[in-house]
Amino acid sequence: MSGLGNPDENLDREWAERLAPDRRGLIRAGAGLVAAGLAGAAGQAFAAETKPLSASAMALRTKTSPWGYETDKEPTPRPHSFRPGEEAGLPGRPRAYTDIESYHAHIYFDEDSYQKAVLIRKWAAERFLVELGNWNLEPRGPHVTPSFYFGFGTELQPIILPWLQLNSLGLTILIHPNTDDPRADHLHYSLWVNRAQPVNAYGMKKADLAAGEPAVEQIYPNTRPSVPIEKS
Ligand code: ZN
Repeated sequence: MSGLGNPDENLDREWAERLAPDRRGLIRAGAGLVAAGLAGAAGQAFAAETKPLSASAMALRTKTSPWGYETDKEPTPRPHSFRPGEEAGLPGRPRAYTDIESYHAHIYFDEDSYQKAVLIRKWAAERFLVELGNWNLEPRGPHVTPSFYFGFGTELQPIILPWLQLNSLGLTILIHPNTDDPRADHLHYSLWVNRAQPVNAYGMKKADLAAGEPAVEQIYPNTRPSVPIEKS
């Protein structure tokens, strides 16, 4: 060592420089790294635990947990895979892109951005022959925030994809294909314009063919486009 005094002090100083500025004071005030650690989050938690419980906290402790008292002993299960193909190992060959029969674009908005959604909806309906759904002001299906959607055939994909990229007005848009695997359509085959957000599609099931459901969700266009699509 190069004569800089107590080696422990040097070590403390070195660590103090590495740590956040607000923790340096604690380390200087403390008697070394161990004391500094205790004075931090762990020390506060310890102090909170040793405080006498308030009346309301005491009351909670006398209630019975609805989960019972053995949850800490439950073994950790391996969940079923939700990634397509992984249930049977890696797929032997790529999936045919022609399995995509159509697309949905789900436009998400909230109480501050709904006017942008109104404009995108109006513009899209004026220009494209699509299946335009109604307004969802509450979470609906796998969609966890207010939204509306329009569905379109694969022939419109080369136009609508770039159109939505340039006309999202900053809203989050989920574009998912429709194949015979709705869960994968929403979770693994999806495209996003702007930020992604949670989609609660983990429980989605394939169509019940025996009950007469079509294998792939169908699109029934219902708009009357009247405005030519802008081109540069
Ligand atoms: Zn959809």
